[in-house]
Amino acid sequence: MSQELITVTSPLLPSLDELTPLLKDIWNRHWLTNNGHYHQELEKALAEYLGVEYISLFTNGTLPLITALQAMRITGEVITTPYSFVATTHSIWWNGLTPVFVDVDPATGNLDPQKIEEAITPKTTAIMPVHVYGNPCDIEAIQEIADRYGLAVIYDAAHAFNVKVNGRTILDAGDMNTLSFHATKTYNTVEGGALICHDARTKKRIDYLKNFGFAGETTVVAPGINSKMDEIRSAYGLCNLKHIDEAIAARKKVAQKYRAALANIAGITLFAERDDVTYNYSYFPIFVNEKEYGMSRDALYAKMKEHNVLGRRYFYPLISDFAMYRGLPSATKTNLPVATRMANEVICLPMHAGLSDEDVERVLKIVITKE
Ligand SMILES: *Cc1c(COP(=O)(O)O)cnc(C)c1O
Repeated sequence: MSQELITVTSPLLPSLDELTPLLKDIWNRHWLTNNGHYHQELEKALAEYLGVEYISLFTNGTLPLITALQAMRITGEVITTPYSFVATTHSIWWNGLTPVFVDVDPATGNLDPQKIEEAITPKTTAIMPVHVYGNPCDIEAIQEIADRYGLAVIYDAAHAFNVKVNGRTILDAGDMNTLSFHATKTYNTVEGGALICHDARTKKRIDYLKNFGFAGETTVVAPGINSKMDEIRSAYGLCNLKHIDEAIAARKKVAQKYRAALANIAGITLFAERDDVTYNYSYFPIFVNEKEYGMSRDALYAKMKEHNVLGRRYFYPLISDFAMYRGLPSATKTNLPVATRMANEVICLPMHAGLSDEDVERVLKIVITKE
């Protein structure tokens, strides 16, 4: 009797017909990793597609965060958001730095610039914001604060693949930007990621750091990590790039249907869309106010599951609530009231290019009827 499962995400896959000749070519070349042909091709293709000049591929989306902090020699305290995927804060921890959590703006889910300024101490050296769900941060306000206090800005742009403001990429904001190409993201290379910077010298240093710090056959210039993307995933990524516009267009249709149907449901709020932003529709978060909606977020989440529809409480719990961070002075709930509320109210609805009209209807019926 139970209906077919509707998953939250579903990976964008290249066609096997497209991928196979590239794989054959890799077999012929006998070159599997270490800045091979397809690695170089994908870097070029992504730079062009995203409208950025300097991009380095990585083996996932976490190591570029860790490496960005290394490359910029960040010390002391890094101001960041608790309302993100745990990798954001983990990257700070892996560098032996202290994360300082700051509350978010309820209109976007992103770091509140005014609260960033209030959290700055003599030990602060960097800000690590996240464009959560692909909603652009207040880039100008953040840069103004960074410039005034002499801080680096490293954006975790894992959700912001090809997001633009007024037709211009946001992936050139701040000092560095990271991307994730994990299978659950809008664009994927199975696992993968990238680090974007502003000049050739910095890219060179990043490329040393992702290859153990090697700057030549016998020279190691830093305690680098191994985070090179291999040829197979680079080729896969090249194929997927051909389908990304189509996939984003399909996501946009789903988002429009959700938005139209949920605009006036008591107790359900959505983020407003800005006219000047080109979104990638990576997620569709809704916020459930238990009192007004007449049902708790967790009850709705369970109700969806009963119907074989998977939502995701993304981001819940807050990063600042995990055992390794909750003892930090900035992790208290009183410091983070907006993020705390959002984490308790959020459900991300199913969002991917494979959702049919019937799938969207099924999801909406549950949210609207609560049955
Ligand atoms: C997915 C994600 C990451 C980590 O990327 P991986 O490729 O899974 O390592 C980092 N930050 C955010 C905000 C993410 O959503």
